[in-house]
Amino acid sequence: MYGSGILAGLGVTLKHFIDSYVDDLKFLGQRYYNPASLNQRQGTRGKGVFTVQFPEEKLPTPERFRFIPFLLYDEKPDGTHDDRCTSCGICAKVCPPQCIWIKRSNDPVTGRPVPQPAAFYIDIDICMNCGYCAEYCPFDAIKMDHDYELASFDRTSAHIFDKQKLDKPVAYYASLRPTDYAAEELVRAEEEAKKAAKKADAASKAAAPVAV
Ligand code: SF4
Ligand code: SF4
Repeated sequence: MYGSGILAGLGVTLKHFIDSYVDDLKFLGQRYYNPASLNQRQGTRGKGVFTVQFPEEKLPTPERFRFIPFLLYDEKPDGTHDDRCTSCGICAKVCPPQCIWIKRSNDPVTGRPVPQPAAFYIDIDICMNCGYCAEYCPFDAIKMDHDYELASFDRTSAHIFDKQKLDKPVAYYASLRPTDYAAEELVRAEEEAKKAAKKADAASKAAAPVAV
């Protein structure tokens, strides 16, 4: 019969429409913010139309969510901090749209390179949030952020993030991605223990009396 496909399609739409209200009643008063509701309505078992009225309502951000990267620094007890970035340039090399620009520091006396960035820029309009920079950084110095509300009317400098804007403490990263942070810290501790054992071994060998 002509038009049966259209009728079937409209029937599916109508079913979704009715299911939306049935689900709304099922989760009355706990529509978005309840994990059980989110699992049900956003998952494969979800029925009906489920919309979030952003920005008044926001879904919780999953830990692995990635948006514009940021740079990590370690806070020291004396109030100063150490950049983890050594300005090796690997992130800039692997960045597919080439939106990272780094300027290396030089020793003012000798002019020799210092493993620290003098400047670090990311063009957030070009960044595609792929996370390659974070994956490839050998120093865990750049990580993906969760802050996605970065829109502005400025079409020029506001979207070029400089080092000041990109810098964030390690504690921020730990709160954002506790699972990744814990795994990385474990590896770090193991590496440090290996280094210490190697050093102690070398020191004991050097201190041992030489057989005549
Ligand atoms: S963020 Fe990492 S990969 Fe990029 S320059 Fe710094 S240390 Fe190298
Ligand atoms: S997330 Fe991807 S596109 Fe963005 S700066 Fe990192 S490598 Fe480049």
